[in-house]
Amino acid sequence: MTTRQKLVVIGNGMAGARLVEDVLALDCDRFEVVMFGDEPYGNYNRILLSNVLNGTQDPKEIFLNPLAWYEENNVTLHAGKKVTRIDREQRVVYADGVEQPYDVLVLATGSKPFVPPVPGTTLHGVFVFRTLDDCRNIADYAKGKSNAVVIGGGLLGLEAAKGLMTHDLASVTVVEMAPWLMSVQLDEAGGKVLGQTIEKLGLKALTKTSTAEIQGHTHVTGVKFADGSTVPADIVVISAGIRPNIDLAKECGLACERAIVVDDQMRTSDGHVFGVGECVQHRGMVYGLVAPLWEQTKVLAEVLTGTAPEKVYTGSKIATKLKVMGVELASMGRIGDLKDTDEVVQYSEPARQVYWKAIVRDGKLSAACLLGDLGPADNLMELFKNDAPVPERRLEIFFTAGSAKKDVSLADLPDSHQICDCNGVSKGTICTAIKAGKCTVPSVGKATRAGTGCGSCKGLVKGLIEAVAGAVKADPSEGWYVPAVPMDKPTLVAEVRKRGLKSVSEVFRELGTGVDEKSKMGLASLLKSLWNDEYVDERDARYVNDRVHANIQKDGTFSVIPRMYGGVTSADDLIKIGVVAKKYDVPMVKVTGGQRIDLLGVKKDDLPKMWADLGMPSGYAYTKALRTVKTCVGSEFCRYGTNDSTALGIALEKRYQGFEFPAKVKLGVSGCPRNCAEATVKDVGVIATEGGEWEVSVGGAAGASVRKTDVLCRVKTQAEALTVIGRFLIYYRDNAKWLERTYDFVPRVGLDTIKRVILENATGLWEYFDREVEATIAAYRDPWLERERPVYAGQFEDAKTVALPMLS
Ligand SMILES: Cc1cc2nc3c(=O)[nH]c(=O)nc-3n(C[C@H](O)[C@H](O)[C@H](O)COP(=O)(O)OP(=O)(O)OC[C@H]3O[C@@H](n4cnc5c(N)ncnc54)[C@H](O)[C@@H]3O)c2cc1C
Ligand code: SF4
Repeated sequence: MTTRQKLVVIGNGMAGARLVEDVLALDCDRFEVVMFGDEPYGNYNRILLSNVLNGTQDPKEIFLNPLAWYEENNVTLHAGKKVTRIDREQRVVYADGVEQPYDVLVLATGSKPFVPPVPGTTLHGVFVFRTLDDCRNIADYAKGKSNAVVIGGGLLGLEAAKGLMTHDLASVTVVEMAPWLMSVQLDEAGGKVLGQTIEKLGLKALTKTSTAEIQGHTHVTGVKFADGSTVPADIVVISAGIRPNIDLAKECGLACERAIVVDDQMRTSDGHVFGVGECVQHRGMVYGLVAPLWEQTKVLAEVLTGTAPEKVYTGSKIATKLKVMGVELASMGRIGDLKDTDEVVQYSEPARQVYWKAIVRDGKLSAACLLGDLGPADNLMELFKNDAPVPERRLEIFFTAGSAKKDVSLADLPDSHQICDCNGVSKGTICTAIKAGKCTVPSVGKATRAGTGCGSCKGLVKGLIEAVAGAVKADPSEGWYVPAVPMDKPTLVAEVRKRGLKSVSEVFRELGTGVDEKSKMGLASLLKSLWNDEYVDERDARYVNDRVHANIQKDGTFSVIPRMYGGVTSADDLIKIGVVAKKYDVPMVKVTGGQRIDLLGVKKDDLPKMWADLGMPSGYAYTKALRTVKTCVGSEFCRYGTNDSTALGIALEKRYQGFEFPAKVKLGVSGCPRNCAEATVKDVGVIATEGGEWEVSVGGAAGASVRKTDVLCRVKTQAEALTVIGRFLIYYRDNAKWLERTYDFVPRVGLDTIKRVILENATGLWEYFDREVEATIAAYRDPWLERERPVYAGQFEDAKTVALPMLS
C-alpha cells in the first residue's frame, strides 16, 4: 500500500479552494488534502459580498463549497483556524493546537485591507470590507444610523457605498484621494461620467480629498480631511486598497517582495512550497481580481498532480466586466499608462452617460475602458486578450457594422474565452459539459459553475447550449416543488403520505438530494398542511417571521397585527390596542390595506408581552396563510347592499384562519355589485347579486400583478359559499407550486378544470376536501399562545443573529 502525499493548503478563499477542486478533478487519489482557513466557514464567492451587503443575496447563497463538500471529498478542513507558523525544515505547519506535517505546502492567504495610518481607525463604527463577517458587522451596525463615509473611491469602496445606501441612511459620502473615482480602471473623463451618474443616485463623492482623522471618543462621530474640513459620520468603511497577506511567508524565510515571489510554476523560493492568488507576485505582477487566480490554480494543479508537469503560467491579461452602482463598466489593461506614440480612440455620448476609450499601441489594443453601454465590449476583449491587430479604420474598434469583421459570435469565440467571470469558466469547459449531455442552464451550472455567480452570463450559456446541442432542453427541476427534492408536487405528496414522513429532515433524508435551506420553508408548509397535528415542527425549517409569529421589518423590529375578523373591531379592542401601543412605545400605529391595525416597530422581546396584553388572536400577517377577509358594510348598513357581506366575511375568516397555503391568500366580500371591498382582485372574491345570491370568483390580484378574478359559480346561501370556497382552498393548497399565488395557479390549471373539480366533483374529491377543512380547523392553535410556552429558549429574545432570509 502506498501512502498518499500530504498536500496542505493555507487559505480557504477563492484561490485555495479552487486549487483543491482542480487537484481533485485531475487526480483525487494522489494527495491527502488538509486545508486551513481562518474564516469559520466553507468557501464562499467573495466577489458576491457586495450583494450580501446590499441585501440582494442571502449569505447562504454565495457559498461555493459548504462544509459538507469538504467531508464528501475527503478534504480535512480546519475552519476558523489560523496558521501561525511554518517550519520549513521539519515541513510542519502550526495552527492553534494543530500540528500538521506536509509534503507539499500551498500558500493561498490572499490579501488584507490596507488601513491608512490616521488616528481613529480603531473606534467603534469603523470597518473594513473583505469578509462575510465584515459584511454582517457593517449591515448590523448601519441599522438606525444616519451618516456613512466610505474612505476609498475604487471598485470596492463604491460597492460598499452602494451597499450602505440600501440601509436607509440619510447620507453616504465616498472620499477619494485621486482626482476621480476608480482611477485604476478609468481615465479622468470616464471618472467624471461615473461621478455624475452616481451622484444622481444620491451618493456624495469627494475627490482630491485625503482623510486626516476619524473623529470620536469611543464611537465614530465624523471624518476630518487634510484641508481641515469635516463631515459627520456614524459609520465609516475603509476601502483604501489591499496588501498581500505575507507575514507567515516572511517569517519562515520565503522570498517576498510586494508579495510572495513565485516562478512560472507557482513555486516559491522553497521547492516544497507553492503560492497562488492575491498573496503571490509573479513576474513582478500582483493581481487583485479572480480571473488570474483561476489560471494560476489550473497550472499549479497540473504541475502538482503530474498531469502536465511542464505546464507554465506566463501571466494574465487583466480584463474585466463589472457593474458599479448599477453602471456597466468594462476595463482592459491600464488605461492611465500612456506612451507618446499611443493612439487614443474615444467616443462619448454624454446624454446617455456613455463613454468609450481605447488605447492602440503598435497596432494592438493595449487598454480600454467602456462605461454606460458595453456594446463593443466582447469585440474589444477578444482583440485585447488575443493581442490581435485592431482594424485599420480605428473607428471599427467600436463600430464594426459595415466592416469586414462583424461582431464576434459565440461560435467564433475560442474555447479559452471566459464566459463566466464570477467562477472563471471558459467556453471550452461549458461546451464539454454540453457534449456530455448537460443541456439545461442549471445542469451546466451544476457541472461547471457557469452562471451560478451573479447570473449575468446565463444568456451566453443558453446560447452555447443552442449552438452545441441544437436546443435548450426543458429543465425538469422547473416542475419540482422545491429545489432539493426532485419531484413534482403530486408525486411528492404521494411519497410523503406513503412513507409517513412528518418532518422536513425526514423528507430530505428519504427523498431529497441533500439538506437545502431554500427548500425548507416550502416543505415545512406542505407537511404542516398534510399532517396537521401530527406534523413534526422543526423550528430551523422556518423563517424568522414564522419562528416568532410576527413580520420582521427593514430595521430588524417586528410588526404586530391582531386578528380583526372581517375588518370589524369594537371600542374595547380599540382601547386595548391604544393602551398597548402606548405602553410599549410603539412608533407607528397603522391601518393596513386589509382593514386591520398594525403596530409597527416592536422589539422582539416585547412580542409575547404585547400579545398577552392584547388578548387577541394572531392575524397571521406574516406566514403563507390566510391573511384577511376584506368586507364592505353590506346590507346591514348600506343603502345599496343586497346581502350581509360583513357576516359572510367574518364567517369565512373564522372558518379558514390559520390555514396555510403555498402563498399568502386574501379574500374579499362585497354586499352588492358596486364591489366596495374590491373582491374581484382577491384570491377569492365574493359579491352579493341582485337575486340574493353570492357570486364566487377566484384568482385575482392587486399587488405587483393585477388580475381580475374568474367567476367560479353562483350560490344561494352563505353555507354554500363557505363550502365551495373551502373546497377551492384545499385544491389550491394541494396543487399549487410553492409560492405560486392563485393568480398564477388559476390560469395555469385552467378555470374549466377547477370548475369540474370544485363544482362537479369530477375527481371524486369533495369528501376529501371537506374532511381536510374540518381537520385543519380542529388542528388550529393560536400561535401567539406560544407566549406562555416558548418552543425553544430565546425564541423571543432580541439576540444579535445572522441575517435570516426573509420572504415577503
Ligand atoms: C467585496 C469584494 C468584491 C470583489 N469583487 C470582485 C469582482 O467583482 N471581480 C473580481 O475579479 N474580483 C473581485 N474581488 C477580488 C477577489 O475576491 C479576490 O481577487 C480573490 O478573493 C482573491 O482570492 P485569494 O484566494 O487569493 O484570497 P481570499 O479569497 O481573500 O482568500 C484568502 C483566505 O485565506 C485565509 N487566510 C489568510 N491567512 C491565513 C492563515 N494564516 N491561516 C489560515 N487562513 C488564512 C483568509 O482568511 C481568506 O479566507 C472582490 C473582493 C472583495 C473583497
Ligand atoms: S359594495 Fe354595495 S353593499 Fe357594499 S358598501 Fe359598496 S355599495 Fe354598499
